[in-house]
Amino acid sequence: MLVNLEIKKTNLEKNLKIARSINENLICVIKDNAYGLGIENILPILLENKCDYFAVAYIEETLKIQEVLENLKLKNQNNKIKVMTLNYVKPENVEYAIKNNIELTVFNFSQLLDYLKILDEFFENTILKIHIKVNSGMNRLGFDENEILELVEIIKKYEIDPLNNESKNKVLKNKIEIISIFSHISDAENQVETEKQVEKYERILKIFDENNIKYQYKHLQASPLLFKYGQKYNYDFARVGMALYGMEPLSYDVGLLDVITVKSQIINIRNVKKNDKISYGGKGIVKQDSKIGIVAIGYAHGLQKQIENSGEAYILVNGQKAKIIGEICMDMIFVDLTDIENVEVNDEVVIVGSQKNIENGITKRITLRQAAKWARTIQDDILTKFGGIKKTVD
Ligand SMILES: *Cc1c(COP(=O)(O)O)cnc(C)c1O
Repeated sequence: MLVNLEIKKTNLEKNLKIARSINENLICVIKDNAYGLGIENILPILLENKCDYFAVAYIEETLKIQEVLENLKLKNQNNKIKVMTLNYVKPENVEYAIKNNIELTVFNFSQLLDYLKILDEFFENTILKIHIKVNSGMNRLGFDENEILELVEIIKKYEIDPLNNESKNKVLKNKIEIISIFSHISDAENQVETEKQVEKYERILKIFDENNIKYQYKHLQASPLLFKYGQKYNYDFARVGMALYGMEPLSYDVGLLDVITVKSQIINIRNVKKNDKISYGGKGIVKQDSKIGIVAIGYAHGLQKQIENSGEAYILVNGQKAKIIGEICMDMIFVDLTDIENVEVNDEVVIVGSQKNIENGITKRITLRQAAKWARTIQDDILTKFGGIKKTVD
C-alpha cells in the first residue's frame, strides 16, 4: 500500500513515562485495537516497559492479547498480566472470561443477574472477577447512587468472605470478587462539575464501605483528569489511553510527544490553468495557473472527508505546506504544489506528523489536534479512523 502509519516507539515510551510521573500505577487502555494502532503493535512496547494491567473494550480483544503473549513467548507470564473489559460482555462469554481470568466490568442489574445466573448454572466453587462501574455524572454506564444499597444486597450473597459460612455450606458456593469500584469523569476541564462527580463517587464508595463490601481498588482518572489535576485524584490506578498515543487530553498542550506519522506518496503531478476545476463536483477552482499533486490517500484510509470544507487543510511536502484542494476522493487527494520546488512523483508526503525540509532543515508538524480542528472533530476520532491502514513500528 502507498499509505503507511509509523508508530514511534520511543515517543510512546516517553508519554508513558510522563503519565507515570503523575500516577505510577496505570491501567493501560488498549481498547478498540489500541485506538486503531493495533494491539499487536502497542502491547509489546507496553509489556517491555513493565505495564501489567490492561483495559480493552471487548472480550474478543483479549484473544489478540493472548496471541501477542504467545508470539513473545510470554504465555507463562500470563498470570502476571491483568486484563479488564470496559464495554459490555454478553452473558454467553462469561464462561470464557472465567476460564481465562478476565475481569469484567459490571454496570447494571440485568447484566449482573445474567452473569450470576450463568455462574450458578454452569459452575461451582468458582470466582467471577468484576469491576463495578458507578455513575458519577457521565450517565453512560454504571450504577446510580440510589441503586447501590440494592446492589450491596446482591453482592452479599456472593461475597468472598469471611471464613464463617464456609463450613456450614455443604454446597460449594460461587462467589464474586470485586476487583474495583470505579467511575469515569465526563468533563475534566470543568472543575465545578468534576468536583461534584468526585464527591458523588466518594459517597458511593462510602455506601460500599459502610456495608462492609470488600473490594481491592478505586480508580477514577482517565487522561484528562490525570493531566488537569495532577496527583489530586490519584486513587489506586489511572486508566490511560489517549495520552500514551500522543493525543493532548486538555484544551491546552501538556507536552506529550507525537506517536504517529501518517505518510503517503505523490503519484501524479499536473499543471492546470487559472479557473480550472479540480476533483468531483467542481468546487475546487484554482485562482491561478497551478501545479497540482495527486496524493495516494483518501477517505478509505480514514482521512476524514469533511476536512475539505475547512479551506485550510494541508499536508507536508518536503517539509512545506501543500494545501488540499477540491473534494477528497476514496483513495486520492489533490494538493497545491505551485510554490513547492523540487517535487517529483514518488516523493513521500506527511498527512499527520512531522517532516523536514531537505534544503533548509526546518521541520514542520501537523498534530492530531490540528487535523481534528480541520475535521471539526476530536483527536481520538482522527486516530481511530486510521485503524485500517498498514502500520510499522519505528
Ligand atoms: C477510554 C476510557 C479510558 C481512557 O481514556 P483516555 O482519555 O483515552 O485516557 C478510561 N476509562 C474509561 C472508562 C474509558 O472508556
